[in-house]
Amino acid sequence: MPDFPYELFKDVISANNDFIKGFEHSELTGVAQRGLAIVTCMDSRIAPLSVVGMGPGDAKILRNAGARVTEDVLRTLVLATYLLGVDRILIMPHTNCRMAMGEEEDIHALIQREHSVDTRGLEFRIVSDQIKALTTDVNRVRSYPLLNKGVIVGGAIYDVATGKLTPVDC
Ligand SMILES: [Zn+2]
Repeated sequence: MPDFPYELFKDVISANNDFIKGFEHSELTGVAQRGLAIVTCMDSRIAPLSVVGMGPGDAKILRNAGARVTEDVLRTLVLATYLLGVDRILIMPHTNCRMAMGEEEDIHALIQREHSVDTRGLEFRIVSDQIKALTTDVNRVRSYPLLNKGVIVGGAIYDVATGKLTPVDC
C-alpha cells in the first residue's frame, strides 16, 4: 500500500494547517440552509458559492465536466432534495467551457493524439450547442420521476470573464 504522497501535497497540507486556525463552521449541519443546489462545471475559474453570495452550510454544490445532468447528478439531487433541505436547483454551465466547444469525437481524438490513449469507451457529454444542452438538462431534472415534485429547477450561464450569471428560459 503506497504511503500518502506528502511531498507532492505539501502546499495542500500546509494550507490546511493555517485554515483550521480560523475555522468557525463546526456548528453547521449537512442540511443546505438556503435550500439551493448548484450543478456546475469542474472549471477552476468558478467559485460557485461566491458567485451567488453564499458560504459553507448554505448550498449543495455538484460539479463535473460541463455541468451536465448525469445519472450520478440525479442520484445526488434525489438525496439532497428529500434529506438535505434542497428545494431549488440551479444548473450552471459557463462561457468558454471546453466541454461546449465542439464534438465528442474531437476530444477523443485530442487525447489520442497527445497521450496515445483511446478514451472512446467513455461518454464525455461534449456539446456543440450549450443552450440546447442546458435546456435538455434542466428538463431532465424537472421531469425526473423520483425527484420531489415541489422542487424548482432553473438554468443559467455563468460568464467566467465578468462573473455575471445570465438566466436562460429552458
Ligand atoms: Zn467547463
